[in-house]
Amino acid sequence: MTAKKTTHINDIKELLCTSPFGTFFGVPQQVFDRVWHRLSNPDGNSVVYISMEIGADPDVFHPVMDFLTEQEYRESKDPDIQLLLNKYLHGPRKIPNYSGGLGVLAGDTLKSFADTHIPVMAVSLLYREGYFSQIVDSRMGQIDQATSWSPEETPSLFQLEDPENPGQPLTITVPFYNEYDHPTLAKAHVWMKMEISEELDYFVPEFLLDYSIDSSPSWVREAGLRLYNSKSTIMKANQRRMLGTGILPLMKALGLTARTIHLNEQHGVTVTMQLILRQIEETLGPDFRSRMTDNDIRAAAEEVAKRIVYTIHTPVTAGHDRFDRSLYTGITQDSCIQILNLLASDEESPSQYNFTAFAMRVNRAVNSVSRLHRDVTRKQFPQFADKIRAITNGVHHLTWISETRAKVFDNSAALSGWRDDPGVFAHADLENDRTFRRNLQKAWRHDNHVLADYVSNMLVEHRRQMVETWIDPPNYFSRLDEVVKLEPGVFTIGFARRFSTYKRADLIFDDIPALADILVRNNWRINFVFAGKAHPQDEPGKSVLKLILDNQQELYTLSNGLARLVFIPGYDMKIAKMMVSGVHTWLNSPKRPLEASGTSGMKAAMNGVPNLSVMDGWWVEGYHEGKTGWKFGYEGPLNEYSLSEDPATLLYAEDSLSFYKLLPGILELFYEQPGKYLQIAVNNLLLNVPIFNTHRMAAEYVREYDLELDTETAANIAGFQELYRSDVVDD
Ligand SMILES: *Cc1c(COP(=O)(O)O)cnc(C)c1O
Repeated sequence: MTAKKTTHINDIKELLCTSPFGTFFGVPQQVFDRVWHRLSNPDGNSVVYISMEIGADPDVFHPVMDFLTEQEYRESKDPDIQLLLNKYLHGPRKIPNYSGGLGVLAGDTLKSFADTHIPVMAVSLLYREGYFSQIVDSRMGQIDQATSWSPEETPSLFQLEDPENPGQPLTITVPFYNEYDHPTLAKAHVWMKMEISEELDYFVPEFLLDYSIDSSPSWVREAGLRLYNSKSTIMKANQRRMLGTGILPLMKALGLTARTIHLNEQHGVTVTMQLILRQIEETLGPDFRSRMTDNDIRAAAEEVAKRIVYTIHTPVTAGHDRFDRSLYTGITQDSCIQILNLLASDEESPSQYNFTAFAMRVNRAVNSVSRLHRDVTRKQFPQFADKIRAITNGVHHLTWISETRAKVFDNSAALSGWRDDPGVFAHADLENDRTFRRNLQKAWRHDNHVLADYVSNMLVEHRRQMVETWIDPPNYFSRLDEVVKLEPGVFTIGFARRFSTYKRADLIFDDIPALADILVRNNWRINFVFAGKAHPQDEPGKSVLKLILDNQQELYTLSNGLARLVFIPGYDMKIAKMMVSGVHTWLNSPKRPLEASGTSGMKAAMNGVPNLSVMDGWWVEGYHEGKTGWKFGYEGPLNEYSLSEDPATLLYAEDSLSFYKLLPGILELFYEQPGKYLQIAVNNLLLNVPIFNTHRMAAEYVREYDLELDTETAANIAGFQELYRSDVVDD
């Protein structure tokens, strides 16, 4: 790699750093001290980023590992260093603390904060059973299992130590109260994952609260085991409390001072409640609970709002926590009920608390995740329309650009500096650069080959398992006597995301005879590679997944073997990266406007892969009049049916027909005019990489949230602020 600048580090020992909370590895001591100093500065000019999930698996982006590999560090005479080396070079590469887009966005965002030196700390929970592991069986569909993983073995994850008792884990105490004001003391250990910048010269600490420890009550332990555990409503509510209510005790224990609190979705909003209580206590004194009035609460909320910024991520009902009021009377004290009654009331459903409404009411800034989503959110929350702004999502370009593509970019003089600044693509002269185009084409072919091989080997492997264990394989092709492979170079459409009904994974198979007919008439071959998980409690989502499996045989038969539809189980970031770079187009077929942004399509665009998408979410901004890919489906005005997830309103017939009309032209372009097809890839690099990256997004957060930064950091990001303005009205 030519463009990396980690040469300021001469010895691996320089990456060891210590603090009262333990010894860490990954950045030099002065970097550690600088970050910690900024986060504990009395000026409070830093940010706490709160997210229920954070997806940042080290197998897709890991600067420390890259450094060790490049410098060929394998052995050390120092046994402590050798232990670390073993952990980093051979340790597990998964941190299964995410379910999908929200978590991966959080991870990408924190990496860009680190790269641009914005002072941020993040807080989430540590889930010892992850989200869930997906097994897929052609007859049963998805089967959910606990994920087993070991935080202790995982590189860049450290358990914090108690400064008072070195060697012992730091334990924070989080009091929860019942209706009689009796505290239950929940305990949590604290893990730190370092999100380290590419050059190892900055980091953003993520603090993961591990409540599943012996000293916590059993209901707390259980609620902390699995992300989005919704075995019972009360468990779900408690998981939210464990995130939000843990923030202030954590900051106190670590001496961190961030004034701005960023709610990445409303899950952690109970931190707002804690701040309001604290504010009232300061005014009224220690017996405030018996004396506070609604006016006291309103006044305190107004003060607290100055500290809160909030990103709302979806217009879909399931994304917003509503809990029955009756549930809360049993699990919290009167003073909290009083606050919830005032600030979390739900106009549509008076018997419930609405935590989205709570987050909407108490903040200094709120943003949606695309322009279209801003317009939808304003319709959903008309009383807050004025303050709802758009900051369109992005992805961390260094995480999602495949290694092969990255080498091509490194070797292009026109793209010099692209790792530090994805804005470089906006001004690069790639139009007439034949070497670049040839190399890009080659890299694309290589990545397609990797994906095809992966799938082919998977099919064979599943077949072997079937023969040995009688377990049904997920894919029809593994059950056939003949070996069916995916051939590299065959037009490949990728689709991978959570299986929610509004995402309509099965849309393009609505009329399989029509689809097969397009292929047979022209003798066009096509591969469909699908992946994704349905939430364990989402039965309709699981049915859609099962439908994909059920369609495999019919599609293969009716198309005379021209079409192959395969499903890859266990979707995660690594599979995502292989897919977005290995396919020829990335399919997105949600019901407009329910996909607030979507980010997997941006990952494809970063690799030059064109999107084939409904005009929803980010694609409204990334489409560029057909230069970067294709659009299909309903595009008309938003009406009362638009937000419905009712099956009857999902527009299957219209939108699939629109897809079938579009498809032949795309196949023809791919097979008959490869030069023009490649041009679309180049257009994506020029037009979309500079916009849909998290460096730009982080810079927009700074502007929209009025974050105060020192001049050096402000200068660092000024260029990224120039790249784009999400919050303009498009017509
Ligand atoms: C990017 C990503 C997502 C989000 O994709 P969307 O297009 O926003 O649905 C989900 N899961 C994984 C593993 C991802 O990498």
